[in-house]
Amino acid sequence: MQTSSSLSSSSSDSKPQMKEHCDHQVDCLKMIQLILDGEATDQQLARLKANLVSCQPCIQMYHLEQEVKELLTKRMEKKCCPEQLVATIKSKILTFS
Ligand SMILES: [Zn+2]
Repeated sequence: MQTSSSLSSSSSDSKPQMKEHCDHQVDCLKMIQLILDGEATDQQLARLKANLVSCQPCIQMYHLEQEVKELLTKRMEKKCCPEQLVATIKSKILTFS
């Protein structure tokens, strides 16, 4: 057994620098919602894709929005009874009080 303890620092990778803060998050959110609604133009799609490569908060926002939308779509398809949902929320509120 050989333990190769070569500490290769991966800090010098040629990855694009990720932005931790988006300067145009409101615009990005609008575009993300347009795209998830299927109403974005090809131009808007291309612009957002280019932005997502380097914009950390927008990637997270995109995935979040996508998940929420998927969840809502599934719920509509299954026609999950809202009464049960209300009951679940109520019981959760009760445990907090
Ligand atoms: Zn952005």
